Amino acid sequence: MSDDVGGTWLDNTYPGCGCDIPSMLYSFSFAMNGNWSRKYAPQDEILNYFRKCVDRFSLRDHIQFQSAVEKAQWHEEDKRWEVALKTGEVIHCNILISAVGQLSRPRLPAIEGIDSFKGPLFHSARWEHSFNPAGKRVGVVGNGASAIQLIPELAKQAEQVAVFQRSPNWILHRHDHRYPWLWRQLNRLLPGFSRVQRWIMYLFFELRILCYNRRTALNRAFTGWSRRRMKRVAPPDLHDQLIPTFPAGCKRVLLSNNYLQCLHQSNVDLITDSIAAITERGIQTGAREIPLDAIVMSTGFEANRFLYPMEIIGRRGQTLDDLWSRRPKTILGLIAPEFPNFFMLYGPNTNLGHNSIIFMVECQVRYILQMLSLLDRNGADAFEATEEATDRFDTILQSELKRKVWSGYAGSWYKNASGDITNNWCRSTLAYFWQTRRVDKSAIRMSTRQCSTAAVSTPIAR
Ligand code: NAP
Repeated sequence: MSDDVGGTWLDNTYPGCGCDIPSMLYSFSFAMNGNWSRKYAPQDEILNYFRKCVDRFSLRDHIQFQSAVEKAQWHEEDKRWEVALKTGEVIHCNILISAVGQLSRPRLPAIEGIDSFKGPLFHSARWEHSFNPAGKRVGVVGNGASAIQLIPELAKQAEQVAVFQRSPNWILHRHDHRYPWLWRQLNRLLPGFSRVQRWIMYLFFELRILCYNRRTALNRAFTGWSRRRMKRVAPPDLHDQLIPTFPAGCKRVLLSNNYLQCLHQSNVDLITDSIAAITERGIQTGAREIPLDAIVMSTGFEANRFLYPMEIIGRRGQTLDDLWSRRPKTILGLIAPEFPNFFMLYGPNTNLGHNSIIFMVECQVRYILQMLSLLDRNGADAFEATEEATDRFDTILQSELKRKVWSGYAGSWYKNASGDITNNWCRSTLAYFWQTRRVDKSAIRMSTRQCSTAAVSTPIAR
C-alpha cells in the first residue's frame, strides 16, 4: 500500500538503484525530459520525473493512496465492477484497469532457517535505511539486476561483502555518463533534439531483439561477443563461475559498469556453493558457515502469479487466479475472456528483455482509449475478449515464444512452475505497437445493459 506515485521507483531505494534503459527512452514520449543528469539516471531522479508528470497533468487529485484492492467482482446485470478495498470501502466502476505490473511483490525464498538470523535481514526492494553497512560483514543473496547495482555500493563501505550466486548472468557494460550543461541547453533550445536522441536509442535497443532468436547465428555471435566482453573485465580466477554456459538472452542480459569490476576488490567474495540454510550467525553452504552481520535478499519478485493476491472475479464467478492456474491466456496481455471491461497494463507476456517497458505501456494505454471510444460509438456498455480470438492469439504467442532464446532455459522468472513463458512478449516492440494500434473488432464482443448474458455473444461492432 503506497502513499505516493512511482511504483517500482518508490519501492526500490537500495543504494545504486537505477534503470538499465537510458532515461531518454525510459520516459514518456509526451513528456520528454531534457534535464536528466546522466544517460542512466538514478532512482531518485526517475521517481521525481514520474512525480512531476503526475503534477504536470494534474493527476494527483484523481489518485486515492493507501488503497489496497482486496477483491474486484464483475456484475453482469449492471455491467459494472464492484471493487472492495482493504479499508472496507467499496467502489463501483464501469471500467477496471490493473496497473500493478509484474514485479511489485518481493520474493523471499523458503531457505531453511531464514527467520533464525539474529542480524538485519531484508529484501532489496524493502531497503532498511537505518542499516549502516560500514565495517560490517554483509551477505547478498542473488546476483540479478538489483543485486549487481547494490553490491558495488555496499562494497564501498562494508568490511566484507559475500555474494551468493546460484547461477551466473550475462553482464555487459553499461555505457553511462553525465550529461554536460551544453546537452541540457541543446535540449532546451533545439526543437526535436531530444526526440531524435530518443529515436536513435529506441532503434538501437529494438535491434537487440534480433539476437534473442533461439539457435541462430546472431544469437551465437552475441553470446561469443558477450563472453569476450566479460572475460576482459571479470577477475580471471572467477571466469568459470561468472560466465554463463547458456546462450545470452535466456535470462535478462544485465548492464553494469561497476559490478564485475568490484569483484576485484579484496573485500568482495563470490560464493557459488549452494545455500543449505540461514543460521543465527550467517549462511551455511555445505560444511561451511559464512559469518555475517546482515543479509540482503536480492531474490527478485513473485512475477508469475499475476495480480495476486487481489481476487478478480469474472462474469461466471471464477477468479483470474483459478482460470490462469496453468498460465494466463489473454489478448496482447491486455484483455481476457470472462473479464469484461477489464484491462491490464504490463500484464502477462508484455515484459521485454530488450527495450523500454514505458513504450509498451504507452501502446497499451492507446489501445484502452480506442476500446473506450469504440464502446462509445457503438452505444455499448461492455466488451469482452472472445475465447476463439484469445485461443488464436495464445497459439501464435506460444509458438513464437518457443523460437525465442528464453525458451531454452528453465530457471528464469520469465517462466512459471509449469515451464510456460508467462512474462515475455514474443516479438519486437514495433510489432506490439502495430498490433495494438487498432482494436481488432472481431476479437471482442460488445453488449448493452439490456442484453441478456446469452445475447452478449452477439457482436455489435461496426
Ligand atoms: P532477479 O533478476 O529475479 O534476481 C534474483 C536473484 O536471486 C537471482 O540471482 C536468483 O538466482 C537469486 N535467487 C533467487 N532465489 C534464490 C535462492 N533460493 N538461493 C539463491 N539465490 C536465489 O531479481 P531482481 O534483481 O530484483 O530483478 C528483477 C527484475 O526487475 C529484472 O529482471 C528487471 O526486469 C527488473 N529490474 C530492472 C532494473 C533495471 O535496471 N531496469 C533493476 C532492477 C530490477 P538465479 O539467477 O539462479 O535464479
